[in-house]
Amino acid sequence: MFCPDSFPQISTEKLKELSAQPYYVRVAYVLSLYLDEFTPQELVEFCREAYSRFDEEGPAPVRDLTDRVAMLELWHGPTAAFKDMALQILPSLMTASLRKTGESRRVCILTATSGDTGKAALEGFRDREGCKVFVFYPADGVSRAQRLQMTTQLGGNVGVCGIRGNFDDAQSGVKAIFNDKALNDRLNAEGWMLSSANSINLGRLLPQVAYYVSAYCDMAAQEGGRLKWGAPLDVTVPTGNFGNILAAYYAKMMGLPLGRLICASNRNDVLAEFLSTGVYDRRRELKLTTSPSMDILVSSNFERALFHLSGGDADLVRDLMGKLTSDGVYVAPDMLRSAFDAHFLGGSCNDEDASTVIRETWNRQHILLDPHTAVAVAVAGANMASDGGSGNPMLVVSTASPHKFSEAVGEALGADISSTGVPIPRPLAGLSQKPVRFQNVIDINEMETEVLNFLNNK
Ligand SMILES: *Cc1c(COP(=O)(O)O)cnc(C)c1O
Repeated sequence: MFCPDSFPQISTEKLKELSAQPYYVRVAYVLSLYLDEFTPQELVEFCREAYSRFDEEGPAPVRDLTDRVAMLELWHGPTAAFKDMALQILPSLMTASLRKTGESRRVCILTATSGDTGKAALEGFRDREGCKVFVFYPADGVSRAQRLQMTTQLGGNVGVCGIRGNFDDAQSGVKAIFNDKALNDRLNAEGWMLSSANSINLGRLLPQVAYYVSAYCDMAAQEGGRLKWGAPLDVTVPTGNFGNILAAYYAKMMGLPLGRLICASNRNDVLAEFLSTGVYDRRRELKLTTSPSMDILVSSNFERALFHLSGGDADLVRDLMGKLTSDGVYVAPDMLRSAFDAHFLGGSCNDEDASTVIRETWNRQHILLDPHTAVAVAVAGANMASDGGSGNPMLVVSTASPHKFSEAVGEALGADISSTGVPIPRPLAGLSQKPVRFQNVIDINEMETEVLNFLNNK
């Protein structure tokens, strides 16, 4: 896994300057600090194009939730979940770097999804030249809207397939394909290379750093706002694969004044547990919850966090990850624990409490939360209540449109979601009228054959 070995710094002066710029310029600036194979002008062009496909509210609006809590909405893109923030820009970066390096093979993007990544990858890569994109999703582990979004996907270079198993099974299956040397040699000979659009791809993480920078700029620049330039801002992030919150950590390491980084888990609370006990224990059943994009026990970006927080101790990380594979559990040494404690806190919330938060937030503020965001709002609230919090303003990251999870939201409200009058995002409207193109559901041991058939147009 690639990790930056040092973090470029952003000064408060630069932040003030960026606060006068549109979102795409902010992203291009952050990317330019890492990706020197592109000119700043190229990056601005790619970003301008990518972030023009978001709705009128813009890619990353910040709105007030209460007088102490603001919310960063990351679901105004073409698939109504935060994965668009990276997956709209990643295809341009990828195809441009293939061109620059003179790569002649075509790329197959192969992705396992807990629901939102798959759709965002399909939409980002659809009909891109020299690319195909194939997605595996757990057939019984996604919401109805999520499934329909994928099975009705348009484009001549896309494929979608359900698997009988959960997200971890889908992810392991995809990893096995990536690690199968014979298969990769064969694909290579046929002119294909495999690539992942999963959140371990560094091209996913870097664009995510940008929205923390952007939110900070917007909040600090607000006249009479609650955040002063240079003062710390806490963030709470609904977490699954640890990509989103790791991006917050990267932003903090780049000098963005962030305080507590609070990792919000649902009942699959391995991460929250690790952050409070130092023990990472995956030896439990994966539970299906109303926040399926966080139904994950083996969090793939967490390995990066271990690397950075251990001060780059690759041997330690290898040892811990080895234990996780062989024993299903590891215990962090004290030094590593205190390194995490200096930045991170964890908390978890079950479906029932998330449901209560959805109902109360609607009744009180007339703001409709999706279940993932509700988990974060609950955990942020518990954090501020437990020790009075840090006193810093709090930013909660909102990761999906409530309309993407209309069953759970409706159940929380005790009424159909349409009764709220909250408009349905354009990309989700009329889903059930669209023709289903991909019906297939397979066993895990058929995944490899499925990919080969797809690449050979069978
Ligand atoms: C992917 C996703 C998450 C989890 O994000 P990670 O980067 O995997 O931690 C949370 N909420 C929603 C709606 C998502 O799609």
